[in-house]
Amino acid sequence: MTDEQIYTTTDAGAPVASDEHSLTVGAGGPIVLHDHYLIEQMAQFNRERIPERQPHAKGSGAFGVFEVTADVSAYTCASVFQPGVTTEMAARFSTVAGERGSPDTWRDPRGFALKFYTSEGVYDMVGNNTPVFFIKDPLKFQHFIRSQKRRADNNLRDHDMQWDFWSLSPESAHQVTWLMGDRGIPRTWRHMNGYSSHTYLWANSEGVKHWVKYHFITDQGHEFFTQDEADQMAAIDTDYHTRDLFEHIADGEFPSWTLKVQLMPFDDAAAYRFNPFDLTKVWPHGDYPLHEVGRMTLNQNPTDHHTQIEQLAFEPNNLVPGIGLSPDRMLLARGFAYSDAHRARIGGNYRQIPVNASKYPVHSYSKDGAMRVINAVDPVYAPNSKGGPAAATGFQIEPGWAASGEIVRSAYVDHPEDDDFGQAGTMVREVLDDAARERLTDNIVGHLLNGVSEPVLARAFEYWRRVDPDLGSAVEAGVRAKENELDPKAAEQSNPARTGAQHKA
Ligand code: NDP
Repeated sequence: MTDEQIYTTTDAGAPVASDEHSLTVGAGGPIVLHDHYLIEQMAQFNRERIPERQPHAKGSGAFGVFEVTADVSAYTCASVFQPGVTTEMAARFSTVAGERGSPDTWRDPRGFALKFYTSEGVYDMVGNNTPVFFIKDPLKFQHFIRSQKRRADNNLRDHDMQWDFWSLSPESAHQVTWLMGDRGIPRTWRHMNGYSSHTYLWANSEGVKHWVKYHFITDQGHEFFTQDEADQMAAIDTDYHTRDLFEHIADGEFPSWTLKVQLMPFDDAAAYRFNPFDLTKVWPHGDYPLHEVGRMTLNQNPTDHHTQIEQLAFEPNNLVPGIGLSPDRMLLARGFAYSDAHRARIGGNYRQIPVNASKYPVHSYSKDGAMRVINAVDPVYAPNSKGGPAAATGFQIEPGWAASGEIVRSAYVDHPEDDDFGQAGTMVREVLDDAARERLTDNIVGHLLNGVSEPVLARAFEYWRRVDPDLGSAVEAGVRAKENELDPKAAEQSNPARTGAQHKA
């Protein structure tokens, strides 16, 4: 043992007498309750796990920088997007439905959550690798996620449940088309785009406002796994995406993404052909082209997954001056849902955990609570005449919009071209090539053959016909052919209409 030897200590910092042996009454006797170190080890171990995230439980992340490479100061006064500014940041990627130990390569959207430690406070963008989502009203979110998770009776995931929900929720068609296509299983997290999906509101220093959508375009290019490749990888390496990101950063191959934005003048929204706040729709690039903003580069791995990634808490209501929300109902509800999830999962003072804390001074009036580690400072109330902080005022702090009307429960007001299937059909016909369309068909057929029964199956065929008539026919033909191949008799019984059997009754 040398002078530099670091001794094991208890959590209170006192040296421990053994790393191996409990305190006993003689070598063959019972363990004594006053073996404080043993008790500390057992008790701490029992408390190592915190509740996993409800959706997005499986994931990992890294740290890096965001550098502004263009000038968008005409559109936002947010310091993070001013010319030449570089901001430290954190990113977390994830699947949605799987639990913490589930395979990275399951077909699922990927979370693409970013935290910017800006000079004006922490700014979060909690996005996905798709520009749209399955639903547009937050009242359906809990039901949607339950349909993706596990049944009550056998605790199994169930494609019948998933397609039941989707086929009864036609607004899901655009996102399900995306999910069943090539981008439904990115080859790695480095090879996928990230999108804000939601529309946000930017305001410049004069108060001029634009609606904005963010696109983080992968600089590594798009790569995907086919269903077979993904299934094989799930068996070989459950953590393939986690490993890929960690190893590339460790080897100095830092992945990067170019941030581009679509900007819509504030007054265009009311008369736009699509509802610009509907999360199931994109703004076609032809209407609102992409403008470059900057580049994010991930160059630093976590050193402790638990404190830096598992406790990393994103929330869409972490906004900074010059950036606001929009009338997107999903976004407005997420403003509450995320912070509530963190309070439930990691405690009310989660913003004091270093990875969540601002790197610039915080002058809030929050105080006390479990596990608080930063001292409150007097005066602890406002208004006060004791020199405490006073609110900033100005239009750019919380850019907003006008709203009026009766309080109702209703769908969005439709814009001229709003429907549930049009943009999905455009993707199938105009974005995908023949080979991609064939893979899309095969993926849908394979998914439907995995436990989907009538009447859900018939509704699923109709759903795809409404996306694209040829795709719907190809899906139905593919499923029926496979059913016949696997079990001709059962296929006939499961679909008497197809064989005319109902007329024999
Ligand atoms: P564009 O031709 O201008 O854009 C098509 C978009 O599709 C590109 O952003 C491209 O992404 C993306 N894309 C390419 N291959 C796939 C794929 N296999 N799966 C999913 N997306 C893919 O057309 P529009 O803007 O008029 O949009 C047409 C359709 O494209 C939309 O209805 C929507 O389904 C889809 N789309 C549109 C986006 C938008 O913001 N406008 C974004 C992504 C998809 P990339 O640039 O990375 O190649």
